[in-house]
Amino acid sequence: MRFSLFSLLVSLSFSGLASQPLLIKNVNIVSAHLSAPLKNTSVLIEDGRIRQLSPQVIHSSDNIQVIDATGKYLVPGIFDSHVHVSSVPGMGFGVEPVTQKHQQLANEYYAQQPASFLYYGVTQVLDPNPGNSWQKFTKTGLHPDYFRCEVITSINTFPLVEKTDEQSKSMFHYLVNEKATAGEANSAEVLVEQIKQSGALCIKLYFEDGYGNASHWPLLSDHTLKRIRMAADKAGLSILGHANALDMYQAAIKAGINIMAHGMWNWGPYMRETELPEEIKSELDTLMLNNIQVMPTQMVISGLGEVMLENTADNPDFAAITPAPLIDWYHSDEAQWFKQELRVGFDNLPDEIIARIFLNETNGRVGKGNKVMAYLKQHNYPLLLGSDFPGSPSFANQPGLTSVREMEKMAEAGYTPMDVLKAATINNARQFHLESDFGTVQSGKVANLLLLNADPLNDVSAWRDIDLVILKGKVINRETLKANKAKHQ
Ligand SMILES: [Zn+2]
Repeated sequence: MRFSLFSLLVSLSFSGLASQPLLIKNVNIVSAHLSAPLKNTSVLIEDGRIRQLSPQVIHSSDNIQVIDATGKYLVPGIFDSHVHVSSVPGMGFGVEPVTQKHQQLANEYYAQQPASFLYYGVTQVLDPNPGNSWQKFTKTGLHPDYFRCEVITSINTFPLVEKTDEQSKSMFHYLVNEKATAGEANSAEVLVEQIKQSGALCIKLYFEDGYGNASHWPLLSDHTLKRIRMAADKAGLSILGHANALDMYQAAIKAGINIMAHGMWNWGPYMRETELPEEIKSELDTLMLNNIQVMPTQMVISGLGEVMLENTADNPDFAAITPAPLIDWYHSDEAQWFKQELRVGFDNLPDEIIARIFLNETNGRVGKGNKVMAYLKQHNYPLLLGSDFPGSPSFANQPGLTSVREMEKMAEAGYTPMDVLKAATINNARQFHLESDFGTVQSGKVANLLLLNADPLNDVSAWRDIDLVILKGKVINRETLKANKAKHQ
């Protein structure tokens, strides 16, 4: 008897998240299943889930935490379905020499990263290329719910083909042998089954034959792609395709992917055009016809451009989410290594010009991505929030902030605040078959919620105005999530 009481106490205190019920009173609910906010509602949360929503006052026990949320807005926590938690902004996937040399900085970053996502309201993430350090994320006491895809590639194709050291190659665990028949080791079918067994929700395939206009890397054969597609259908796994150039979009669509993991910034033979060419429109028509979901990942381009600007490491937003020693390091000469790579890639043009090639809204890559998004919006085509954080070894992108900025980019391209809400919540939950747990504020769902001070259906800036973050029913004071908290706290 005593023993079982003891184990009960232990399990309560080690479950981490609160089992004390929570009542949120007088709140306005904003959720993709509602066309307008549901005003002055009471929400009861028990055991980490939403139990009841009611226009009346809900009476409950004494042992309950009550929040009067008059004038505030309750929304689902943000779901970013394209982040890479192994990748340290400014360093890379943790396998590069620069991270090896600065283990301490990397570990401080890994320890803070989950809190930084939560600070910006990101309560679920999906990582399509988990690398070798993702367990550092899930082992942290308080972290967003974590989901993953696994990459299938071969030694001849991107990303493996450009890796030269064993350490970098060690990131890829599912290397397909295109000659193996079904059932043999490393055949497409066996790998898909192993990925399914590992608990991953999806498969990531790379359609990348070279950066820019280069075309020197092979793709997986049509036959292999077909075998992966059929095995994935059987296993119920989505396929996410990395592609950002016109010809690679064509290859990915032909392979029957479910999700386009990037926007189209590279217009191939039309790079000098400023208006969307007919051939690209017709490719996007095919994409829409095939119901392929789109992650615009504009922050990848933004991160590449911004790292070339002089004061990026001084961004005041970094203070809350990036450990101070890492910010200091961003100012060092050593941390400019990726900038130097970009300079070399652009024939040593001045930094401002390189920045403009990415950031210019008329003829830069950002502008091209925007025009593709605007075309999709013309057809009322939905988006998925997937920022691809950090997107490159650029330190311009930082956890959580990049997700919210990606949402702002959607709005800039013409998507409405309701479209952005859907992209960041229900669309991802549905795409990855998680809608019974996430995506809306409805009874039965996991209580990963945000209390906002302003209505996100008026303006997307409301997503930056967070009063409280709620993770599995536990109320988190946003201040406690900050990096660089005062020492005496
Ligand atoms: Zn990615």
